[in-house]
Amino acid sequence: MIDTHCHLFFDELYNDLNNVINEAKSSGIRYIISPSTNLETSRKNIEIAEKYPEVFVAVGIHPHDTANFNDNILIELEKLLEHSKVIAIGEVGLDYYYKFSSKEIQQVAFREQLKLAKKHKLPVIIHNREADEDLMRIFEEEVNSSLFGQFHCFNGNYEMARRVIELRSFVSFTGNITYPKNENLINILKRIEPENLLLETDSPFMSPHPFRGKTNKPSHLKIIAEKLAEIHKITFDDIVRTTNFNVYRLFKIGELPKPSFTYKIGNTLYINITNRCNASCVFCDREGYASVAGYNLRMPKSMEPPAQVFIQEIGNPKEYDEIVFCGFGEPTIRLDVVKKVAKYVKENGGRTRLNTDGHGNVINKRNILPELQGLIDSVSISLNSADPDQYSRLMQIDKSMFYEMVNFTREAKKYISEVVVTIVDLNEVNLEKAREFAEKELGVKFRAREYF
Ligand SMILES: [Zn+2]
Ligand SMILES: [Zn+2]
Repeated sequence: MIDTHCHLFFDELYNDLNNVINEAKSSGIRYIISPSTNLETSRKNIEIAEKYPEVFVAVGIHPHDTANFNDNILIELEKLLEHSKVIAIGEVGLDYYYKFSSKEIQQVAFREQLKLAKKHKLPVIIHNREADEDLMRIFEEEVNSSLFGQFHCFNGNYEMARRVIELRSFVSFTGNITYPKNENLINILKRIEPENLLLETDSPFMSPHPFRGKTNKPSHLKIIAEKLAEIHKITFDDIVRTTNFNVYRLFKIGELPKPSFTYKIGNTLYINITNRCNASCVFCDREGYASVAGYNLRMPKSMEPPAQVFIQEIGNPKEYDEIVFCGFGEPTIRLDVVKKVAKYVKENGGRTRLNTDGHGNVINKRNILPELQGLIDSVSISLNSADPDQYSRLMQIDKSMFYEMVNFTREAKKYISEVVVTIVDLNEVNLEKAREFAEKELGVKFRAREYF
């Protein structure tokens, strides 16, 4: 695990630093990011990081400490960025709850530090308390293709989380998700995919239950990770792997995982058949990181394995709830491999699902559905939109393919016992129209998945 927010310079931790770090390591912490609050704590943090290889530093002026913010402070701050252990600017932001500094100077300091982050292509760690609108306004005014942030100790509403994530930034929650009477926060958290989360303790503050009120320590991170796994109904390993990958993306700490041919999330095993696709959906990250739940699914054609490799990795299919053909490409491009693997799964008592764009008949130049009978138990077809023009635009594909997908769906009902159509819930897509089209026109199940 990586504790992305732990203030090692505060006396509560600093006075016992060796023990704090050793305890963290033996509880499964690999790295700690220690954000600063002013120039003095930035320098102290760098000293700590020089001593402990597992510690990295964010330097910055916390909103509480901005009362005397000026250009000289900014110049001094910039000098610290040269240090190899400094990997981010933070924490910066707005705090209208305590208001130790005026709103005006807080906003100036926040904006200037965002500009500094852009200049050095560094991520920012953002603190916010009761300043949602001003904070998002300034961030959105400054954001560009190289500015990304961690909205730490998130306490905004769902709409704010969504805005943050659409800008490809991350959110993190602290021990407060373990407190009773926090349904609001939990309900927001439920709707944020782990791909957009980071782990943090915010030590020495925000101790999780049952340590509430006591000094928080990075070794408590496990409690928060376990809570996230419980809320998202996935495993502890899923949360750790996914958030570690997120840390790699944002802070460039750790390493890119090796590509996976099969990957397990919860108790489902997914088969990464191919990266090749006949469409080029605007929301697809195939050309980006091509990652899911912390797995690296990037697979050039030359690396595509034969069926036997997938079969070996599956082992006993009864150990999984389901074996799903799904990746960043269109599985029916490798129909023979899908059929061979599915046959193995069915012969050994497993359950199969195929995730497809529904263009398999065009791709293979024949009706492939009779061939899938008995091999595929469930098929999920990407509907994307009930509007052919929008469908064509979103997938960057000819409009005729919409009708191809519709015919495939109708035909699938004859051969496969469960047929579901899915859409990605983009703001521009009419969800209710899509649901009605699925249920009334196509007579199949409908599932919307949030675009995060
Ligand atoms: Zn903070
Ligand atoms: Zn903090």
